[in-house]
Amino acid sequence: MSKQLALANVRQYLSDGHFEDDLRRRVAIRSESQDPDQAPELARYLHEEIEPVLIRMGFACRALENPNGAGPLLFASRHEGDDLPTLLTYGHGDVVLGYDEQWQQGLSPWTLTREGERWYGRGTADNKGQHSINLAALEQVIKAREGRLGFNVKVLFETGEERGSPGLREVCTEHRELLAADVFIASDGPRLNDSRPTIFLGSRGSALFSLEVRARDKGLHSGNWGGVMVNPAVVLSNALASLVDQHGRIRCRGLVPSSIPGPVREAVKDLGIDRHSLGRSLDEHWGEPGLTLGERLFAWNTVEILTFTAGNPAKPVNAIPPSALAHCQLRFVVGTDWQHLESILRQHLDAEGFQQVEIKIDRCTPATRLDPDNPWVRFAKDSIGRTTPRKIAILPNLAGTLPNDIFADVLGLPTLWIPHSYPGCSQHAPDEHMLEPVILEGLEIMTALFWDLGSVDCRKNNNK
Ligand SMILES: [Zn+2]
Repeated sequence: MSKQLALANVRQYLSDGHFEDDLRRRVAIRSESQDPDQAPELARYLHEEIEPVLIRMGFACRALENPNGAGPLLFASRHEGDDLPTLLTYGHGDVVLGYDEQWQQGLSPWTLTREGERWYGRGTADNKGQHSINLAALEQVIKAREGRLGFNVKVLFETGEERGSPGLREVCTEHRELLAADVFIASDGPRLNDSRPTIFLGSRGSALFSLEVRARDKGLHSGNWGGVMVNPAVVLSNALASLVDQHGRIRCRGLVPSSIPGPVREAVKDLGIDRHSLGRSLDEHWGEPGLTLGERLFAWNTVEILTFTAGNPAKPVNAIPPSALAHCQLRFVVGTDWQHLESILRQHLDAEGFQQVEIKIDRCTPATRLDPDNPWVRFAKDSIGRTTPRKIAILPNLAGTLPNDIFADVLGLPTLWIPHSYPGCSQHAPDEHMLEPVILEGLEIMTALFWDLGSVDCRKNNNK
């Protein structure tokens, strides 16, 4: 049988309504991991929806104990030969809260509803629709190759992604051998836009930290004490201004990467990001001077002030506030010395005369980025290029943050994400949806990709 037949079959799977049936059942399961009452639904999603599909495809399935007692995990393996490459793929069965009452009239998060090109439902974009596409593509390739894939597959499903994936790192560390593979390919997050098939190779990291100035227990009358007593809000706003200037440029240079590697610069250039390409006109004067807009977004760091409080903003009074607190975030790319964030901040603030500013480092997620010249990226790009005439976007990393370091660093895998959603999908909001043309293209892209992965010739051309 041929690749063309596999593609014809996957198109028919969509046009006959079978993809819709599968997704409808999956969307109807209220696997809201942020609601403890729905915990049984997490296990039900794995056991009633994912396991039967995998078993039908010849996978051996087993539950993996989550040491944090958080959502259940499912591991499955399909082994064809020791000399064949092994793919690790991943999906998450949980969704964010439904916010049922906030959806447009006639829509419910738990009922798949088609309106024009849009398929509405919680999890359509994040992540049920996306992993449903990949599972369907795998199944079509197995059928078209009469029971063989030509490679080994391991599948990892979790149900806590929307709570920060508790336990995933520990499980992957503990089961490194079990999860060993040659390449990681999965689908989550958005494409660059709806018309550009996208591969992203990692994500920016995120470090949350707070800065606080505490001068005294109580507020002081600003008339009686102003001018002779320190105002913590004034001190803190000056400290923040020493970190990042009025144009968003990071002034604390220990918090920026040393350079942008050539292949990353090339890949970002190819995205063609201009003022209008992201659906909202960009502030050209904002960010690091000398960099293109694309480089500022995908290849550089930002310091954001997320909240800034002093006194009672809801009820201002004539008083010097006793303290001031700012929650900040560093979004960073590979090559940033984020492990020493606290000492970099301390040295900078001390040098600028802000010894009284206290620093607290909160949650950090490392950055990851696969070299855009990696052979697996060429393999995927060539395969997608044979499936669709559209220009492919290669993002060295997502501008947002994923715990991709678990796969890239803990498991040591080249990581490729091929998303089937788009920026306007209302992920995490009411009216979440996916687009039918992107579903179709996603099914075609993944079917062809899995076909090519099992074709020795394709692999050889790209990986030698
Ligand atoms: Zn999500």
